[in-house]
Amino acid sequence: MSASASDYHTIAGRLAFPSLAFIDGGWQAAASRRVYENINPATGAVIGTVAHCDAADVDRAVAAARASFEAGAWSRAAPEVRKAVLLRLADLVRAHAEELAVMESLDSGKTVKDCLNEIGHEVPTFFQWYAELADKSFGKVAPTGEKTVAMIVKEPVGVVGLVLPWNFPMLMAAWKLAPALAVGCSAVLKPAEQTPLTALRLAELAMEAGLPAGVLNVVPGFGETAGQAIGRHDDIDVVSFTGSTEVGAYFLKYASESNLKPVGLEMGGKSPMIVLDDADIDDALIASAINAAFWNGGQNCSANMRQIVDRKVKDNFLQQVLDKTRALKVGDPLDPATDIGSMVSAEHRTRVLSYIEAGRQEGARLLAGGGISAGLPGFFVDPTVFDEVAPAMRIAREEIFGPVLGVIGVNGLEEALQIARDTDYGLHATVFTSNIDKALHLAKRLPCGTVAINGFTEGNVTTPFGGFKRSGSLARDNGTEAVDQYLQTKTIWMSLR
Ligand code: NAD
Repeated sequence: MSASASDYHTIAGRLAFPSLAFIDGGWQAAASRRVYENINPATGAVIGTVAHCDAADVDRAVAAARASFEAGAWSRAAPEVRKAVLLRLADLVRAHAEELAVMESLDSGKTVKDCLNEIGHEVPTFFQWYAELADKSFGKVAPTGEKTVAMIVKEPVGVVGLVLPWNFPMLMAAWKLAPALAVGCSAVLKPAEQTPLTALRLAELAMEAGLPAGVLNVVPGFGETAGQAIGRHDDIDVVSFTGSTEVGAYFLKYASESNLKPVGLEMGGKSPMIVLDDADIDDALIASAINAAFWNGGQNCSANMRQIVDRKVKDNFLQQVLDKTRALKVGDPLDPATDIGSMVSAEHRTRVLSYIEAGRQEGARLLAGGGISAGLPGFFVDPTVFDEVAPAMRIAREEIFGPVLGVIGVNGLEEALQIARDTDYGLHATVFTSNIDKALHLAKRLPCGTVAINGFTEGNVTTPFGGFKRSGSLARDNGTEAVDQYLQTKTIWMSLR
């Protein structure tokens, strides 16, 4: 029998929440002894306090990571050794999935349903997949002729700084840690200040799986202090960041003002969904449209908020979208029947509401939602649908990161493409059409890292994920491409006598 809301509340009541930093294989208070309050956004209640790490703690974490990297128990271990540890970690995450999912739900306001899917399935899949890759990657021998042998080998880059957002706390940790650890790097990871808990617990599980002390360090703290200290640290070799475009730009500045470390950036989006007049407006398409806009309460970098729909099918599309939107259950994230949990914080809810207000002011037609969810504690926003969104409106140009679906009517493919392309971002797009030529024409012309055809998806562990334009750098998470962020290339040239 599947668990109920009351089962998950019982689990929540029994949880022990991590509160310290995890440095050099153990729990440590911030050097300053400062802590901050961690809030459950679905209730506004304080979950507990968490170490308020700053530059001094980042220094300690980097020193531990460097020492572990130089010692070599992980960085120079045979790949099958790293593989065995990461496979054990995947199993431990699976075994603790319920506890971790409830912890993450409390920390973020995400629904327990989504947390269970991410932590019970996706996170362990990432550790397993990169564990399996560890002993299946080969170097090259260059074609240099008879008198020489030139080997091209890949080496772990060293100490990596991983800075994470709050919208998929444990999944984003896995996206970065799994490939970084699999190739032998040591890591200093900073979770978002709003959602520190599962990354801290993951570090503990990694030790249980057999990861040597110092290889994974987790420093909870704020962006301007701990985040900046990672960005500016002279002994961090690479930073991989996921978060907003604004903060991604800071990391480029930090790198240029410190040791010129390469910076991998996965940033914001304003992704389009195009529905052509030949698309079947069936349940699957509507489910995709709803999921694309409202999954994770719209707090999703690849959310397809700009739904560009041919006017010939728009009325039918909108009616079905509205029916489904009104049926969505907003409420207690620990209730498995809930579709949309709370926004991550009061501050973020204010931002989302300000965009809804901007949509109203600029003349978009509000058809559903539009405000705070009545009768709920915490920071909830009702799923909101706007029609008659114009491409120049702020809600069509800026990332809202909340449950807002906007419909833009168009006449034909070329107008749809022109509007879809007209954005500073380039993370994702979805296309619905029954014509394969049109689908591939759009896929080739859309300037973004992922194009989904006839179904909203971000892909899976096997496919690289990242953005064009202001959504990302050339680095990619996921797929075999992800390991490139954490490896450097060495040539060994041997002259034969
Ligand atoms: P954010 O940029 O505010 O914060 C991300 C991280 O950067 C946090 O750990 C934060 O503490 C840190 N940070 C903030 N200010 C900093 C500073 N001045 N110096 C150093 N570090 C700093 O982003 P967020 O609000 O946590 O997450 C939402 C954003 O993340 C959205 O823009 C979303 O599109 C993006 N995102 C992108 C992807 C992707 O794969 N492209 C995935 C998830 C989220």
